[in-house]
Amino acid sequence: MSTGTSELSAHAAGVDITGLRKSYGSNEVLKGIDLNVAPGEVVCLIGPSGSGKSTLLRCVNLLEQPNGGTIMVGGFNVTDPEVNLDKMRQQVGMVFQQFNLFPHLTVLENCTISPIKVLKRKKAEAQKVALRNLERVGLGDFGDRYPDQLSGGQQQRVAIARALSMEPTLMLFDEPTSALDPETVGEVLSIMKNLAQAGMTMLVVTHEMAFAKEVADRVFFMDGGVVVEEGKAVDVIGNPQQPRTQDFLRRVL
Ligand code: ADP
Ligand code: MG
Repeated sequence: MSTGTSELSAHAAGVDITGLRKSYGSNEVLKGIDLNVAPGEVVCLIGPSGSGKSTLLRCVNLLEQPNGGTIMVGGFNVTDPEVNLDKMRQQVGMVFQQFNLFPHLTVLENCTISPIKVLKRKKAEAQKVALRNLERVGLGDFGDRYPDQLSGGQQQRVAIARALSMEPTLMLFDEPTSALDPETVGEVLSIMKNLAQAGMTMLVVTHEMAFAKEVADRVFFMDGGVVVEEGKAVDVIGNPQQPRTQDFLRRVL
């Protein structure tokens, strides 16, 4: 890695989820999930559509309110009603399938607006940090462009740079390459791999099994709102033990 190994790992936070439950009406979507990510670790979450992966990620930064269990992020007890939500959310960067860039702002402005408004950074300082992160994702020369002048893969790389510009201690990715043209998937996965090697704590929902096998330290397979199997990436993906995991992997590999 050329940049920032210690810079990222020094601030990495862990995640500790125990007994997480979430229902929508009578539909129990998460049925008591235990999952932890150590500081600097990369965990991939895999499983069929509807198994609760996005709901789990959204509970971690309280975009969804859990019905039970506890979630710790770094020093924050996310599930404590007294938690400082703003401070907690500043720690957590999230990248979605849809890039959600602000279309009327330049690439650089997309990366500086939150640091200026939320972190109260001076504009010049925010621009310096944003530029460093745009360089990290290979888009140092693209600051003046608008999102619609970029490919999908480039837009997703901006979304990653934007999240990094809030200096998070944890990054959540929800199928970050699922909306991309096949030829741009690789560039986004390669940025994520670099981030992982730089020591960022990452919880990644993905259907990219080759990425999960290569980059993740551990993999969790979810189905029907429960963790069916978990372990080292090479074991869960290379040699799954549970029939449901085997069946899923047969279908996606
Ligand atoms: P995954 O990301 O694994 O595909 P989700 O977490 O998106 O799964 O969804 C799990 C289940 O929760 C699905 O049955 C889905 O229909 C339901 N669900 C998700 N979000 C909502 C919501 N806001 N309101 C009602 N049901 C929801
Ligand atoms: Mg999902």
